[in-house]
Amino acid sequence: MSRLVVASNRVADLSVAKQSGGLAVAVGEALRQRGGVWFGWSGDVVEDGEPDVPTTTSLDNVTTVTVPLSRSEFENYYHGFANRTLWPVCHYRLDLAEFSNEFLESYRHTNARFAAEIEKLLLPDDILWIHDFHLIPLGSELRKRGVTQRIGFFLHIPFPPIEILTATPEHEWLIDSIFAYDLVGFQTQTDLNNFKRYLLQLGNTTFLPLDRLICGDRELTAGVFPVGIDADHFAEVAHSPQSDRIVESMKVRDPGLALIIGVDRLDYSKGLPERVRAFERLLELHPEWRNAASLMQVAQPTREDVDAYVDIREELERLTGAINGRYGNFDWTPVRYINRSVERDRLAAIFRASRIGLVTPVRDGMNLVAKEYVVAQDPDDPGVLVLSKFAGAAETLTEALIVNPFDTDEVAEALHAALIMHQSERKHRNYALRTKINNFDVFKWQKDFLTALEHSRTSYLIPERT
Ligand code: ADP
Repeated sequence: MSRLVVASNRVADLSVAKQSGGLAVAVGEALRQRGGVWFGWSGDVVEDGEPDVPTTTSLDNVTTVTVPLSRSEFENYYHGFANRTLWPVCHYRLDLAEFSNEFLESYRHTNARFAAEIEKLLLPDDILWIHDFHLIPLGSELRKRGVTQRIGFFLHIPFPPIEILTATPEHEWLIDSIFAYDLVGFQTQTDLNNFKRYLLQLGNTTFLPLDRLICGDRELTAGVFPVGIDADHFAEVAHSPQSDRIVESMKVRDPGLALIIGVDRLDYSKGLPERVRAFERLLELHPEWRNAASLMQVAQPTREDVDAYVDIREELERLTGAINGRYGNFDWTPVRYINRSVERDRLAAIFRASRIGLVTPVRDGMNLVAKEYVVAQDPDDPGVLVLSKFAGAAETLTEALIVNPFDTDEVAEALHAALIMHQSERKHRNYALRTKINNFDVFKWQKDFLTALEHSRTSYLIPERT
């Protein structure tokens, strides 16, 4: 088995990976099985003149190598091209995208710098797995330096339709750089189709069976690899003695209250204002839920120095205040808004105690909260997942109540249907969803991707192999 070299924006602390979510665990497992290196940003920013040397930590056969960003890289590469340009473009929000040459140059330059660092770490037989939108051109920068090993790239966020992508300056350069990889993975068939439609329109790609794509002298395989969660572990956490205690105390505090739970980073892609409006509409259309149902929204602050995030937070706070002022009373708060991060075991318990998991992004690569909510349920008396059709997860989680988050009435009616749904139907839906989530967990995702990478045809055969 080849040694694995992973590059991603951030690197997990492998000694506490269980707490940092499924992805870190799955990538950590692959690294431990094969031995290897995990490279990424340390999270530190150094000012001009300060040393920017990599930090190396080893645990058994796995080494993590992290580098700081300079102040200018942090502003222009990370908060610039990644967060202010690519994130909105890939989430279909051209209106929020900012374009600047400074951002683009820093993005190129930082990826080139990372490539130089990674090259020093490589052995001839390694395979490389690069993650996400921060690092799209990393593969082509490595190729420029003569790296011939197999390299795979996985995009965790949506791939936008051609009409949106072509509005992005230098999009040809960006997409062309994907052809430096041997395998490119997307979350959904929609994303892969968007990628192929873009290539079709550009007209310089030959399409072979099994999603093999030829562009010039390069061959690339494309595939769909929907990311999963560490389903067994999350279900276990949701049913631990500590979770039992949390669930029990929640029931005692609010006997008979039907809780609707939303858990997200406070991002404009998550459809949070739309969600609060839909809950308000439920109270208008079905007044029997006044005093009887509450929406608990846990919204973790994120990217707070980007204007669009300040705006979405203000809008959410305004809406929450308005609905609580209009409907709330001494005994009942319609919307409970919690603006912070919550520990995973508490989160799992809150999911379990909630009658509805309300996941309504206006655009999302996958959405792992939807999967976590399902596996946290008590299989004999589960809650119902109400899921936006614009979450990648909706492509497979078809037994959820699938809604259009922009259609306030439709979401309100889905909430009502979920609240009155008979136990037998809830069990049937939960079982079907849980089976899919268990069968396609994050470990399978990792294995499927790496197997496909090892079997991908490559035009960059290393000398020993030819
Ligand atoms: P994204 O990657 O866009 O943030 P996902 O739903 O795919 O969205 O993954 C989010 C992860 O972060 C999930 O594992 C979820 O449980 C966790 N998370 C989201 N919001 C919070 C929060 N407020 N507190 C703790 N964990 C959170």
